[in-house]
Amino acid sequence: RQLIAKEDPRFLQPRPPVVTILGHVDHGKTTLLDAIRHTNVAAGEAGGITQHIGAYQVEHKGRLITFLDTPGHAAFTAMRSRGAQGADIVVLVVAANDGVMPQTREAIAHARAARVPIIVALNKIDRPDANPDFTKRQLAEVGLVPDEWGGNTIVVPVSAKLKQGIEDLLEAILLVSDSLDIKANPNGQVFGTVIEAKIDRARGVVATLLVYNGTLEAGDIVVAGTAYGRIRAMFDFRGRKLRKAGPSTPVQVMGLNEVPDAGELFRVYANEREARQVVEERLLQRQQRRQALPKA
Ligand code: GDP
Repeated sequence: RQLIAKEDPRFLQPRPPVVTILGHVDHGKTTLLDAIRHTNVAAGEAGGITQHIGAYQVEHKGRLITFLDTPGHAAFTAMRSRGAQGADIVVLVVAANDGVMPQTREAIAHARAARVPIIVALNKIDRPDANPDFTKRQLAEVGLVPDEWGGNTIVVPVSAKLKQGIEDLLEAILLVSDSLDIKANPNGQVFGTVIEAKIDRARGVVATLLVYNGTLEAGDIVVAGTAYGRIRAMFDFRGRKLRKAGPSTPVQVMGLNEVPDAGELFRVYANEREARQVVEERLLQRQQRRQALPKA
């Protein structure tokens, strides 16, 4: 499992679970992500919630949970294609009025291939045409047998629209999280993935990084694919300036020389010379691969 660092087990410490939300189009992924962010992020903080940086964290019973908030398969698959697991837990949104659909099956296949456990958020239960029992039977048919029927899948009825069932969903996430070995070494080698990145007129290259292991600090030299640079400034999803970011923390960073691809792995290097060397080698390899291609 890529999200668990190859570190001396003695130095591993529990870290927040990283959760991604998958499901069929229009089943409520975006609405659910918003509902979660609104229910728990701002607790005790006036007007705390703001930026969309591709990931956020909420607190439930004093514990943090990290959500990737680029809904759909794109970010998850991009990470997987680069060897990262993508997430510790998948929340599969299934609309109770629509049931299991093609993209539901696709999401299940993705999660299984990555060996990531699935929690079902049975959404839209507020709708008069919702049919939770029928949907649960469909889920059982595709191998997600609800625990109330003796299976292993936690199915949490929710209404993302009415913000109902959100606490139960967070509770289920922590429960599943406790059954997994979600750990990292906050003092170990610093690495993680690029969640998203873009060029900003005022700030230059802006990238959201998710730290898997170690602690990322402002001033660190980062390489992501062929992008590199010294982190000039670092912010959390509330737009607050950060000096340090430990395992499972999403941060927006400034200072890379080009826009890295989403899903790309990043690593911290001891100095700029070493980082440049790594990048130059990669550029050379890329060029050689191009030259090796047969001409059309
Ligand atoms: P996505 O494509 O999976 O991200 O789905 P959206 O979050 O965009 O939701 C699709 C539509 O379903 C929107 O019109 C939402 O307002 C609606 N919707 C989402 N969740 C609920 C819910 O719990 N109840 C009801 N009645 N509508 C919902």
